[in-house]
Amino acid sequence: MIVTVNADADARSVQKALVNLGVSVASEEHATDGKRHLVLSEAGPRPGADVIRKLPGVGSVSEPEPCHPKVSAHGPIARVGQRAVSARTPLLIGGPCAVESEAQIHRLAAKLSARGVSALRGGAFKPRTSPYSFQGHGREALRWLKDASKEHGLLTVTELMSESEVDAVAECADLLQIGTRNMYNYALLKVAGATGRPVLLKRAMSATVREWLLAGEYLLSHGASSVLFCERGIRGFDSQTRNLLDLGAVALLAHGYGLPVIVDPSHAAGRRDLVMPLSEAALAAGAAGVMIETHDAPGDAKSDGAQAVHPDELQKLAKWFPKAVPGKGRPLSSPVASIINQGASS
Ligand code: PEP
Ligand code: MN
Repeated sequence: MIVTVNADADARSVQKALVNLGVSVASEEHATDGKRHLVLSEAGPRPGADVIRKLPGVGSVSEPEPCHPKVSAHGPIARVGQRAVSARTPLLIGGPCAVESEAQIHRLAAKLSARGVSALRGGAFKPRTSPYSFQGHGREALRWLKDASKEHGLLTVTELMSESEVDAVAECADLLQIGTRNMYNYALLKVAGATGRPVLLKRAMSATVREWLLAGEYLLSHGASSVLFCERGIRGFDSQTRNLLDLGAVALLAHGYGLPVIVDPSHAAGRRDLVMPLSEAALAAGAAGVMIETHDAPGDAKSDGAQAVHPDELQKLAKWFPKAVPGKGRPLSSPVASIINQGASS
């Protein structure tokens, strides 16, 4: 929304009046006719234009078309399979970085389902920085992953890397993952959306919040049933962690835009000792779930072993997560949940 301040009025006192109404001003621009334009922040609750128009000094109020109408209308709940996922009913996703063998994924699925995990992750097609690193077992791994999920009553999460694999990946996945490197791949977003599946959309490692939301708009406008925005850390300046977990963006999307956010503390931290504290921080910030890389022999992992936690570790978190309840989850009743329940709008 853009508020135009009359040329003879004091823009500061208009700003003050807006702040008193709980509105934040994102920027102030000078028009050539001497008037000032106050561009209001898109996020967060806002009184109607009629209320703002009555403030002293306000000339006019214009409401530009929202640039991501479908994202704005999405709401805080995402459906994944039979689950309604939100900050009140968060989703615990666990599993290895890559599906390494049939035996491995079955073994992990059994351990994870017994430790409160509802969705099994595992890459069949891996986006690796080096072409010489393990690239994943492809279609064969999709089958192993699906069988393991089915056997243990878990939802399946796996990454779509290319348009040519969309049918095979969509058949396997209850939740299609778009990786950080592909958030800007608009052709891929279109075909992913067209599957009609819910999509876990990872934030590109240098994406602004606006670019991330617009990538979500690509998915929804092409047919995705829901989008879960996944914060996995952005490029920082300090190499002590692999990436910089942007909890501000998590809180902004969850509370400002009222969207479901999943946090991936594994790729953010790059080290297993930080995964549990960052998971709890994510839930307190309003996340609708966490996705954690797990391995039962992290030293032998074909990728991302340093950040993989043992399945037993997840037990520490399981109490914050409802077990799958068809159609709806039950509200949490823990101290952290009371923060979440107050924060979530529905
Ligand atoms: C992953 O989840 O295994 C992965 C490759 O993540 P990202 O796209 O965030 O690097
Ligand atoms: Mn990984």
